[in-house]
Amino acid sequence: MYRSHNCGELNASNINTEVTLAGWVQKSRDKGFMNWVDLRDRYGITQLIFDESRTDKTVFELAKTLGREFVIQVKGTVIEREAKNKNIPTGEIEILVSELTILNAALTPPFTIEDETDGGEDIRMKYRYLDIRRNPVKNSLLLRHKVAMEVRKYLSDLDFCEVETPYLIKSTPEGARDFVVPSRMNEGQFYALPQSPQTFKQLLMVGGMDKYFQIVKCFRDEDLRADRQPEFTQIDCEMAFVEQEDILNVFEGLTRHLLKEIKGIEVDKFPRITYDYAMKTYGNDKPDIRFGMEFGELNEFAQHKDFPVFNAAELVVGIAVPGAGNYTRKEIDGLIDWVKRPQVGASGMVYSKCNDDGTFKSSVDKFYDQEDLGQWAKITGAKPGDMIFVLSGPANKTRAQLSALRMELATRLGLRKPEEFAPLWVVDFPLLELDEESGRYHAMHHPFTSPKPEDMALLETEPGKVRANAYDMVLNGNEIGGGSIRIHDKATQQLMFKYLGFTEEEAKAQFGFLMDAFQFGAPPHGGLAFGLDRLVAILGGQETIRDFIAFPKNNSGRDVMIDAPAAIDDAQLKELHIKVNLA
Ligand code: ASP
Repeated sequence: MYRSHNCGELNASNINTEVTLAGWVQKSRDKGFMNWVDLRDRYGITQLIFDESRTDKTVFELAKTLGREFVIQVKGTVIEREAKNKNIPTGEIEILVSELTILNAALTPPFTIEDETDGGEDIRMKYRYLDIRRNPVKNSLLLRHKVAMEVRKYLSDLDFCEVETPYLIKSTPEGARDFVVPSRMNEGQFYALPQSPQTFKQLLMVGGMDKYFQIVKCFRDEDLRADRQPEFTQIDCEMAFVEQEDILNVFEGLTRHLLKEIKGIEVDKFPRITYDYAMKTYGNDKPDIRFGMEFGELNEFAQHKDFPVFNAAELVVGIAVPGAGNYTRKEIDGLIDWVKRPQVGASGMVYSKCNDDGTFKSSVDKFYDQEDLGQWAKITGAKPGDMIFVLSGPANKTRAQLSALRMELATRLGLRKPEEFAPLWVVDFPLLELDEESGRYHAMHHPFTSPKPEDMALLETEPGKVRANAYDMVLNGNEIGGGSIRIHDKATQQLMFKYLGFTEEEAKAQFGFLMDAFQFGAPPHGGLAFGLDRLVAILGGQETIRDFIAFPKNNSGRDVMIDAPAAIDDAQLKELHIKVNLA
């Protein structure tokens, strides 16, 4: 028996018992005649004491050789500690050690394995297994497990069945770039790793599974923007015989369950807003609604004077920033520089300060009188003491810029509180999105998404106006889930491919199997997928997903611990029928 207890469970009620513990040496304090060791395992830390007057001489001497992260086993008696530590559950006791076995010595770790570490990001990624010993990372993984368990429990109770779908599938050009895997047995042919199990889960509905879910790895070979991983995990779900309303209810229920079980928070019914409303009000289809600063469109009250910048703009739009009326000239200039950075791209910014006496002082007083500025305040909801910031230009770009400013100011003002949770649904997404470069329409969600029946007629004439039965769940400014009601008949699916610019042959070659299946009695169906990594990170009060993944990749898509990707040898290449020509 390696241990009778773990390092987190002994307390005053165990005093005088004989115990065996095993774990890692976190640190030792050698006072000559007395030596204390902190013994750590996943469950906590227990203090060991080696005392010259009470401990066997060889054991006492051996304890002096222990280094950090040595793996040891000890036998001893639980005794009351003199200097108690109220901060840890084991803080009232210590173990007077009688036997000590070194199970494995350890090199000095390259960074300190404590909550606060001196290790930088790179070194911790290289020695990820050491980082996992630290509480912050360990607790993130435990949280992830808990979330996954609660998801399985909740959905299973509703009759959802977890089904595994294949990882070796066929490459399709829609969506992101695929990771591909050469086939040894089929010369010159490749599998692709799934970007999501989308078509398989739809086929499971045709197969009559009725309610499916899967906690599943997905793979996308995208250029890694900050905080994206080439492999990530989805909670993937699909249901048959449902309308959008049914799906929203089930997964709102799941999210509410998670918030309650994990965070102890009860949330009301999720607000639902349309995509159009989200864009107009927040400049963003994943708005953070933990705070206000909603957009006020000012065209009517800004384009009737001689200010050429506003008069030439498609959109003049502002936000009222609470309590920012006392910003200094320097702070305002700093913000103007901030919106002018290429990442944001505004050409300038107008402001109007709302004085406590109800008057206004703006950067465009030359053009606008108190009455005009009063209208601006009314429309942006500004109160005395606030500052109104106004941007102008092409509508979409300007909204995106103001959205960036809104988020930045909210962060600076401490309005994005990690322990506050404000979920919502964004519904009625456009079906199609115009790719400015190619001039072609792309499916905004994916090509299997059903247009709203009442918008079908617009497909031919104004495809950009067609709305989809597609929805996103948004939490604290992050899209945590998204899905749609699907097309379930061959004719509509074929039509969709046509509008997306597929020839009939291309559509058949790539998705013939799905359209075939639709001819064999496909039920109406729909679903969605949550991003598990992000969901867990947000529940953990953080915005980065990396610490919630046991073995993540770095920003160049590399696993620096195992050093992947890597070259393979010639024999392996030959077997795979691959010739590599590196210029
Ligand atoms: N497969 C979709 C995605 O990965 C989700 C869905 O439509 O269910 O985004």
